[in-house]
Amino acid sequence: MTASASEREDNQVCQEPAVIPSRSITPSQIDADALKVVRRLQRFGHLAYLVGGCVRDLLLKRSPKDFDVATSAKPNEIRKVFRNCRLIGRRFRLAHIHFQGKIIETATFRAELRQNPEGDLLIRSDNEFGDERADAFRRDFTINALFYDPVAKQLIDYTDGLEDLVERKLRFIGQPSIRVQEDPVRILRAIKFAARLDFCMDEETWRAICDYREELKKAAPPRLLEEIQRMLRSGAAEASFRLLWESGVMEVLLPEVAHYLARSPERGEEREPGVGLWAYLRALDKLGDRDMLTNSVLLAGLVLHPVLDAAACAGEGYGLQFETKAVGEVARAMVRPWVERIRLPKWESERIQQILAGQKRLVKLRTNASIPKGLLRRNDFPEILDLFELYVRATGKDRRKLAHMRKTLMRSANRSPNLKGTLGDGQAASERKKRPPRRRHGGRRRKPAFQPSAPTSKG
Ligand code: ATP
Ligand code: MG
Repeated sequence: MTASASEREDNQVCQEPAVIPSRSITPSQIDADALKVVRRLQRFGHLAYLVGGCVRDLLLKRSPKDFDVATSAKPNEIRKVFRNCRLIGRRFRLAHIHFQGKIIETATFRAELRQNPEGDLLIRSDNEFGDERADAFRRDFTINALFYDPVAKQLIDYTDGLEDLVERKLRFIGQPSIRVQEDPVRILRAIKFAARLDFCMDEETWRAICDYREELKKAAPPRLLEEIQRMLRSGAAEASFRLLWESGVMEVLLPEVAHYLARSPERGEEREPGVGLWAYLRALDKLGDRDMLTNSVLLAGLVLHPVLDAAACAGEGYGLQFETKAVGEVARAMVRPWVERIRLPKWESERIQQILAGQKRLVKLRTNASIPKGLLRRNDFPEILDLFELYVRATGKDRRKLAHMRKTLMRSANRSPNLKGTLGDGQAASERKKRPPRRRHGGRRRKPAFQPSAPTSKG
């Protein structure tokens, strides 16, 4: 019989960590600079380990996105050890150790926060230093709390994370119902990891997600948008959104999309409910280079079928009222609430409406018809075409039309420097150069993508 979350928590108080020699992680899989950071901190007498997603991914034979280090050294001590170190963050100071083209984020062990169980559990600040054990227990999932010491070649496991990793199980550390109330974004993180890693959800973890989904309304809206975007780009968007739907979280986070799925019987989709949405997400998952797509295209694709459905039924069941059935207007009514709910920038909500209206015009065009000049010259035309390409991939329809449009575009772009300016080279998303990521106002600066200095194995 497996222990309940509270029994596990009681055991954890006195439990020694499991220290496991690990030969399955080889030095060549670890970023050379992250290794340097750990070695140097240890040489100066501090505890230092790799931690979090990189350890989890290395054990699963996946390429880590980045390598994070946790250490007993306080921020000022870290700065003394590295000349290439910048301290960031006002309340909880993190050390960014700069190397060519990358940053190794190095964090001092942090304490677990004990909230008053009678009161509001939401964590508003998380800025106390702690020891190694506390740092493991304050993390979200057991599989995200493993430390790896690359010098001693040992895993340090306080939370039975290795067992869960082997069983491919996602489990909150501590009591799931408390952990989701402390930080409701953990609900979305759970869904994202379960989908991306193809892990099953521990029963109590799943129950807490379903029972406390309304808590998401207390989370900081920009974090919600960020997690939605991450799910769309994860390569497991279909699995993620299916879990959002099955848990009832979608109703809280994206009620528009939930209404579309709930209305499947009215559309005669009893056998394949929500078929259009799932086909879009599947096409997105199969796309080799999703990084080339803008967030506006991804979100426009997510809401495309709900918008078409709401336009067809004049908003019935969506709680929307429109004067017309024009896609642009329906899209406006549907996407506008995102500005408040998930802090979508206003300009982006407008762009999504434009992309959807433009895409509808492309769908209506005859196969060999020329693209209207007005449409062709719009600066969002590449995005409209990207969404159209996703629609073609999802439905298998209009392949010839897409090829014809791409060809026309190339020709027009070569003829007219103006067009070239707006359309780039008229290539498909998968062929265009990557756009630099946009920075949210007041948002956290992203770390540059990790570039492995040695080949890492892929899962
Ligand atoms: P990814 O591959 O998506 O980067 P990750 O596990 O590295 O996965 P991050 O968001 O980079 O995830 O966070 C790094 C680590 O910080 C996590 O592995 C986890 O231990 C801890 N962490 C992040 N967010 C939370 C949270 N909301 N609550 C508790 N711990 C968290
Ligand atoms: Mg990470």
